Amino acid sequence: MTYRAFLIKYSEIGIKGKNRYIFEDALCARIRENLAHIADGFEAIKEQGRIFLSCPEEYDYDRTVSQLKKIFGIWAICPVKVIPDNSFDSLTKATGDYVEEVYGDREITFKVEARRSDKRYPIETPQICADMGEYLLKRFANLKVDVRNPQVRIHVEIRNNAYVYSEIIPGPGGMPVGANGKAMLLLSGGIDSPVAGYMIAKRGVTVDAVYFHAPPYTSERALQKVIDLAQIISAYTGPIKLHIVNFTDIQLDIIEKCPRDELTIIMRRYMMRLAEHFAKKCGSLALVTGESIGQVASQTMQSLAVTNAVCEMPVFRPLIAFDKQDIIDISEKIGTYEISIEPYEDCCTIFVAKHPVTKPLLHVIEKSERKLEGSVEALVEKAIESVRIINVTSSKIYDKSRDE
Ligand code: ATP
Ligand code: MG
Repeated sequence: MTYRAFLIKYSEIGIKGKNRYIFEDALCARIRENLAHIADGFEAIKEQGRIFLSCPEEYDYDRTVSQLKKIFGIWAICPVKVIPDNSFDSLTKATGDYVEEVYGDREITFKVEARRSDKRYPIETPQICADMGEYLLKRFANLKVDVRNPQVRIHVEIRNNAYVYSEIIPGPGGMPVGANGKAMLLLSGGIDSPVAGYMIAKRGVTVDAVYFHAPPYTSERALQKVIDLAQIISAYTGPIKLHIVNFTDIQLDIIEKCPRDELTIIMRRYMMRLAEHFAKKCGSLALVTGESIGQVASQTMQSLAVTNAVCEMPVFRPLIAFDKQDIIDISEKIGTYEISIEPYEDCCTIFVAKHPVTKPLLHVIEKSERKLEGSVEALVEKAIESVRIINVTSSKIYDKSRDE
């Protein structure tokens, strides 16, 4: 069967009351943007609690579905047959033709599930199901009714047009990106932060990112790894403005003047300060990190509290209560894992203490930081001035083998 249209179902955005149109419009926009590279002529319009997507004459079905499966806000993707004449006789016959084309002479049990969004339609829903079922039974010897546990549910939706479908492809859920503001992700080359970015985008948040680079201690390859990761998650999040900040001089200043066991925590506080600066500039309302309680010394409750103390903005940590394996499972699913485990270190060993503090006290850390007064301000200024911003977009390379 060649499909020329899809009915797109969404779940949560259906309950947004007066603001529902904002979410629907964002979802339509994301669908149009994400399909534009496949073919010209896709059209996404709102249709009473669904989105109706009509496809151009020539398009790649598999690629289209694969792309739709990455658009947050979509709960289900239903390839539909459109029946412009929704009079009952014509609808019944067209449904029969659909069943014949899709299932041929396969022995199947089925059930008809009808829905009328136009309540003026002259036949009530239970009657549509009964009459349609009877028609199909008469027409096809290979069909049997099973109302409790059918192999195939034949959905008939009567709207402006009528639609018939029986395949429901799960979407990623969540909310359309752009519907819930913007946040700045601290993106490193590790496993966690790309997953954190994916998760925050799933709640409808637009993601920008910042990476702290320390050349020559961290290599160009480590930077490329971060760009590659941003590119993979941008297939879900949309374009990412990646800020590449040269952090070397700040790090060296900290190493020179602060106690070695407090290095990481002080470094992290400077990362947060800088991230917040760029977040404000971009109109982001929050920071996002890949931190998870207890994962490493800088992520104990005490360390998180001390790091957090420099932030004015809320800091969201979508992975805070996740086990590492759960994070790995998501990174494998979204395709970042293999890049994250590439051996290009994002942190040189000279910046890592052998025995970092695990229970830092804020006043102690603040006292150590005072040793940086007089030098670090200019270095922070320089890091801000020399930032490189690149716009990372997904290349939309379609690899069928990656599709589940
Ligand atoms: P990841 O958490 O991404 O796997 P990681 O575990 O090596 O990397 P941590 O040292 O645990 O990173 O840092 C915790 C969080 O701090 C990261 O999830 C990330 O959000 C942020 N972060 C760490 N290093 C950097 C960096 N060089 N640039 C930007 N953000 C960073
Ligand atoms: Mg981590």
